[in-house]
Amino acid sequence: MTGSGKALLRVEDLAVHFRADRKRFVRAVNGVSFELLPGETLGLVGESGCGKSTLGRALLRLGPITGGSAYFDGIDIAGADATGIAHLRRETAMIFQDPYNALNPRLPIGAAIAEVLAVQGKVPRAGIQARVAELMAMVGLSPDLADRRPAALSGGQCQRAGIARALAVEPKLIIADECVAALDVSIQAQIINLLIELKSQMNLALIFIAHDLGVVRRLCDRVAVMYLGRIVEMGRTEDVFSDPQHPYTKALMRAIPEIDPDRGLPNDPLGGEPPSPLDIPPGCAFHPRCPAVMPICRQDPVPATRFINACEIACHLYDDPQTNHQSTRERIHA
Ligand code: SF4
Repeated sequence: MTGSGKALLRVEDLAVHFRADRKRFVRAVNGVSFELLPGETLGLVGESGCGKSTLGRALLRLGPITGGSAYFDGIDIAGADATGIAHLRRETAMIFQDPYNALNPRLPIGAAIAEVLAVQGKVPRAGIQARVAELMAMVGLSPDLADRRPAALSGGQCQRAGIARALAVEPKLIIADECVAALDVSIQAQIINLLIELKSQMNLALIFIAHDLGVVRRLCDRVAVMYLGRIVEMGRTEDVFSDPQHPYTKALMRAIPEIDPDRGLPNDPLGGEPPSPLDIPPGCAFHPRCPAVMPICRQDPVPATRFINACEIACHLYDDPQTNHQSTRERIHA
């Protein structure tokens, strides 16, 4: 779905590096490029530490950006001043993994939702209570719960309150970071169904960060697979799940048992040393664990993702100069 309409979010060569100590940097996000259309859902998957949460936070300026660019609805995210950030806050929202931590424990949930409405000024003061009730109804919460504090609610109710709070800004884009990971399986399904319903009702663009591939397959239009801070494969969800091309994606897909397709990513699906963004191997970062490794993979950095059929892949296996590969950068500038 990239390139076939006006992108709501355009990310190019984005980097997030942190200083770990006097000599070393954590290269958490390393040259990520993609576009997101209005109403589109992109799943970001990969093992713990691959940079997906850092990327999500950077895109909403809840974390730093140290290189590259990102534009949301015309706003330069990396270079935004206070006015630009205020605009970003009015048009985007984040849903967090731990619904209890995401809400103020001292504030009843109705007041927490009303607070967002008052700050963003999208509803006249006199209409705030009615809008709170409306938002709670939208996420399947009885307005009777408005006076309860988070500790008096179940995890599922709390996550619904977090979603209502996110919707209060009437966002064009929501980034959901492992937002069902802490919930029971039956509640997870309810929250996923709610997100599916809301995104079609509101034409919401959604970046869904998850390690649960079953949920990503059900919810997302496209999926991007990250490894050590880079997107190694991206394409339509069904294409990536049914015919993965990159050796890392293939290994991830093989690691999901067919009898339990909703299972999350195992901690170490491939064996070998767990990846560390502090010590990224030279050449292709995946080469120490790759079953298809070639001599070139140990030395030459992998070029940015290129379009192979309908998918974008970053891998030397696709270096054939006869093939008409188009880089993501070329595609974005086309
Ligand atoms: Fe494997 Fe080489 Fe491709 Fe990296 S570039 S995934 S090491 S084949």
